[in-house]
Amino acid sequence: MVDLWEIHCQRLADDIADIIDITPALYDAFCKVNRSEFCPIQKHAYSLDPQPIAGMQWISSPLTVAKMTIALELDGVDKILEIGCGSGYQAAILSKIVRRVFTIERIESLAKEAKEHFTNLEISNIHLKFDDGNSGWKNYAPYERILLSAATTQIDERLFSQLETGGILVAPIEKNGVQNIVRFRKISDSEISQEILEECQFVPLLKGKEQ
Ligand code: SAH
Repeated sequence: MVDLWEIHCQRLADDIADIIDITPALYDAFCKVNRSEFCPIQKHAYSLDPQPIAGMQWISSPLTVAKMTIALELDGVDKILEIGCGSGYQAAILSKIVRRVFTIERIESLAKEAKEHFTNLEISNIHLKFDDGNSGWKNYAPYERILLSAATTQIDERLFSQLETGGILVAPIEKNGVQNIVRFRKISDSEISQEILEECQFVPLLKGKEQ
């Protein structure tokens, strides 16, 4: 029997596919992750709007999650690092497409809740750390992909050093008060290219952790 949440999630995937081109793998990921697990306001769980969560943070719009995921070019990717786990929804979507997801959150209560969401949904390929993500997660580096789910003016060099050669880092970059999704490619240790994709709105990447 099909559960009601599955119908809602498929509708959500359809709504996204009506607006932007999504790959079959991403469409399936939206169908498989029950977004209501991550949303405090149940009646908005399947809408395309961003929503407030604890700690004055936001769960991104599913459309933004889709755009960031597409920008990462995940076909055949094994290992990804996300900075800014928040509710955990973006990480859960990634977990359906790549083999291992590493994600870092600087607010302890959010990290704890996200862990519970992953357990409730029986997702076992996400590794979550409560820490300041600016220093990355050295133990498991290098990563084929790195995603920043919070906006910054400049990427910490330690993150580029944990990205493998040929790898992609996607981040919301703020310049003159405007944020854009930017895709960086590590061509070699000394060369990084960048492409500006489109305007976006994320909460700021902060320093340090919060208990
Ligand atoms: N990916 C999230 C959206 C997160 S909002 C989701 O799907 O819900 C951005 C998150 O980044 C917030 O939870 C914020 O606490 C976190 N954050 C900001 N600065 C950080 C840092 N330096 N290290 C780790 N997490 C950070």
